[in-house]
Amino acid sequence: MDAPLRHTDDGHGLWRYAGLIEVRCPRCARAGQVRARRDSHEVRFACAGCGLRAATMSCCGLHAAQGDWFGPVRAYGRRPCGYCGHQWLGVNRVYPGRPAHAPQRVNVRCPACKRDSEVEVRMHPHRGAEPRDPHLGLPLRLLEPTRHGLLWAYNAEHLDELQRYVAATQRERLRSAGNASMISRLPAWMKLARHRATVLKALQRLQARLVEDDDAPALAAQPGQARDLSRAARRRRG
Ligand SMILES: [Zn+2]
Ligand SMILES: [Zn+2]
Repeated sequence: MDAPLRHTDDGHGLWRYAGLIEVRCPRCARAGQVRARRDSHEVRFACAGCGLRAATMSCCGLHAAQGDWFGPVRAYGRRPCGYCGHQWLGVNRVYPGRPAHAPQRVNVRCPACKRDSEVEVRMHPHRGAEPRDPHLGLPLRLLEPTRHGLLWAYNAEHLDELQRYVAATQRERLRSAGNASMISRLPAWMKLARHRATVLKALQRLQARLVEDDDAPALAAQPGQARDLSRAARRRRG
């Protein structure tokens, strides 16, 4: 591929690529796609291998949506102490998947008066640093470890943009772009000129993987994670 030497960041965010995300089925690890429709805000995944279906409604991807979620969840709640009014007694825990018996109330000891008060907790999708689709929390298919860090992309268009950026020797940002663009949020190691060759090679491996009709190598690469995910999937099916 002929790489242009100049790249201009026009300020678009990662969200531009979130309409179609290459993922792996959390149950059978087969390659699949999460599709999010911009007009109806409807998000769907259907596995062609095992038949797993998942769906949610998403308003913008930042707010919790009603529906399926396969990623980590955060149990969060807080209140003042019921005895002395100390602020705050809080619960803030992250689980790798939706726990089978999610606590609705947790006793928290007040650091001031040493008595316990019940704190109500609610579960929220936890969109942490892990590379997952932001709608349903499914593991991404386009993941490639490098010796500098983990490279990931949502889809072919996203990969192309990363490739253009990394290959460029002249990088510019439109004055209007701000600091929330997909490019400006890339990790520092991806931006270093001395990593260019390594990162480009890894991006090419990802591009090659897009056209293979592969199945299941991710399970071997991340056995623990895959087990957790399939447990979560079974629970979700009830
Ligand atoms: Zn499947
Ligand atoms: Zn207290």
